[in-house]
Amino acid sequence: MKLDVSSPNFNWGELGFRYRQTNSHIIFRFKDGKWDNGELVNEPYLQMHIAATALHYGQTGFEGLKAFRMKDGKIRVFRPQANAERIITTCEYTMMAPPTVEMFLDGVKRVIAANIEYVPPYGSGASLYIRPVIFGTEAKVGLSSSEEYAFVIFVVPVSDYYKGGMSNPVKSLIMANTDRAAPFGTGHIKIGGNYVATVRSSYLAKKREYPVLLFLDSATRTYIEEFATSNFFALTPADSNGKRHYVTPKSHSILNSVTNMSLEKVAKDILGWEVERRRIAFSEVEEGKFDEIAACGTAVVITPVGEIDHEIVKDDGSIVVNKHVIGDGKTVGAGLSELYHTLVDIQNGEREDPFQWMWPANGIEAEN
Ligand SMILES: *Cc1c(COP(=O)(O)O)cnc(C)c1O
Repeated sequence: MKLDVSSPNFNWGELGFRYRQTNSHIIFRFKDGKWDNGELVNEPYLQMHIAATALHYGQTGFEGLKAFRMKDGKIRVFRPQANAERIITTCEYTMMAPPTVEMFLDGVKRVIAANIEYVPPYGSGASLYIRPVIFGTEAKVGLSSSEEYAFVIFVVPVSDYYKGGMSNPVKSLIMANTDRAAPFGTGHIKIGGNYVATVRSSYLAKKREYPVLLFLDSATRTYIEEFATSNFFALTPADSNGKRHYVTPKSHSILNSVTNMSLEKVAKDILGWEVERRRIAFSEVEEGKFDEIAACGTAVVITPVGEIDHEIVKDDGSIVVNKHVIGDGKTVGAGLSELYHTLVDIQNGEREDPFQWMWPANGIEAEN
């Protein structure tokens, strides 16, 4: 059933983060070597997806980005070009027909225009989540890439993941005997299976009250990679001028997060901090080098991490847990706060947008 947002008392803050049916989604089809012009359709997205996905050997990629109703009243999307480029990388690596950047942007604009009343009001803390998906649609059993694809973009209004900004720091677990991505596998691309490798371990971790799982490199379990669904970054304590180092891992097998890239830019060019993208040994956490650590991604922006518990397998197979408290483990650090508010203020139009991240400049309007 379609989500009804027409009541003036509609509570945008209670939406949560889940699928809901809106007016329509847009679908582009690839056949006979070319993409069509895309069509807005209003059948429920999920039904169509299930019908089409049985026979493509997992050739599926996806994206996640957000549109905001900004302070000047205009609707803009945060860095859609970056997501377009990333889905093209995903497609190239998995031999799917990639959409073009223009097609991606055109689709995003059209589907928002057709669902304009679902873009939450300025000041509600809510936003319109945009989920592009691409998948093979050719019915086949032989193992080769599909000759036909569907590229679908659907939109769904979501409220702040954690109401009113960042959550209190959460506990994270490095779980023994489980990996997210192979060293030269598919961890760096946003394929449909990106999260499935961690669905079970994340479920088990949540039952033990660890909301986020952290992964070390699968080959040596020495270097930090990323959380199950978000990137890792750490801050060093502020020096006497209030400057910090923003440190984030460099690895082939981590997903190139747009949020992380954006926070790096905020850290360097707005806050004047040092940014290091390099291999980070977990021993640096053990040594207490960082006083703030967080997970970052589109859905939540920043999730502060107050403790990392590290399970280590002994030679006899038994497991010991080493606990590492970050900062005081309980309160959100000043560095994370600065980063968070700077980025969110750009997204909401409360602060100048020095990098022209919000697209398009003149906003998106209802179709008529
Ligand atoms: C999508 C994703 C992220 C976050 O990327 P954003 O572009 O910031 O949303 C991080 N890690 C993984 C594994 C992801 O799939």
